[in-house]
Amino acid sequence: MEFVASPHPSPTSDEARQQELANPGFGSRFTDHMVTIEWDEERGWHDAVVGPYQGITLDPSAAVLHYAQEIFEGLKAYRHPDGAIALFRPEQNARRLNASADRLAMPQLPEEVFLDSIRQLIAVDGDWVPSAAGSSLYLRPFMIATEAFLGVRPAKKYKFVLIASPAGNYFKSGAPAVSIWISDYTRAAPGGTGAAKCGGNYAASLVPTKEAFERGHDQVLFLDAAEHKWIEELGGMNLFFAFEDGSVITPPLAGTILPGITRDSLITLMREEGLDVREEPYSIDQWQADAESGKLIEAYACGTAAVVTPVGKVEGRKGGFTIGSGGPGQLTAKLRDRLVAIQRGTAEDTHGWVTRLT
Ligand SMILES: *Cc1c(COP(=O)(O)O)cnc(C)c1O
Repeated sequence: MEFVASPHPSPTSDEARQQELANPGFGSRFTDHMVTIEWDEERGWHDAVVGPYQGITLDPSAAVLHYAQEIFEGLKAYRHPDGAIALFRPEQNARRLNASADRLAMPQLPEEVFLDSIRQLIAVDGDWVPSAAGSSLYLRPFMIATEAFLGVRPAKKYKFVLIASPAGNYFKSGAPAVSIWISDYTRAAPGGTGAAKCGGNYAASLVPTKEAFERGHDQVLFLDAAEHKWIEELGGMNLFFAFEDGSVITPPLAGTILPGITRDSLITLMREEGLDVREEPYSIDQWQADAESGKLIEAYACGTAAVVTPVGKVEGRKGGFTIGSGGPGQLTAKLRDRLVAIQRGTAEDTHGWVTRLT
């Protein structure tokens, strides 16, 4: 795929960029450029452009605006100590985008094109990758149905877009334990889109998330749709439960939870530590019983944005319970440090997880 370069006519000055990178927050500032690639039935993927970050023009009848044919990914570019820019398992994001595309009847994007789009954007906006501890450049690839047509069937035109947003340290000092609310709503049903990274899943999670915030919690916990008994995941993070006997449980990938790349990486790291990690169903009642008996020592959530986050408190309509002392646990902190060190290039990459771009 040939990418046409159309440089921004008035890119951010070095000084203004440095100022932005000093305190980037999350998700509200974007780099000077974006990648767009078009798809239609006759030509497949074509017209790849690295151009100025700007608005997208859509026909008001564009399919994405009516039936939500939209999927996305999220990954980070890290600044290594030697100045190189690196990605963490980006081919997994490429693969997962295609798995999501399958579920939403959207076209496959060749993995090489996905990775090339990142290389192309980093080539022009690499200076936007911050170097401060805990900071990164968050990459957001997504695909939308652009065909102007109100009929209910897979669209015949799509656009792939890659944008990037500098992200500061998610937590200023270590990860504080979060409090979670057990929602009565469900996120995904068997046979639904729970394993796809699509905007529709998030739209459906906003009311439960708002409810959790209003009750003073940080995150929402979803149980399974059929029995409302089995723990699935948080709104955007997978969960792990660690026991005093050295075993760890995480809910299995049975189609209703999102197969997190952080989840997969942590399973590998924990097994290397000698922990007995099992992917098996775990019920909310068992969680409470194990937390109260002291058998469960830590619980943690994971995802690209916040890496590994300890869970301190759990509450639902039937009451609540505390994990350990309610604060961050040692295993959680150790895993977080292990993973972050690999991503940031301060520990050896023994798994071939890191792709250095420059
Ligand atoms: C993206 C996402 C995750 C985490 O996946 P990572 O690849 O680890 O970032 C977990 N749950 C949901 C619902 C997600 O959308």
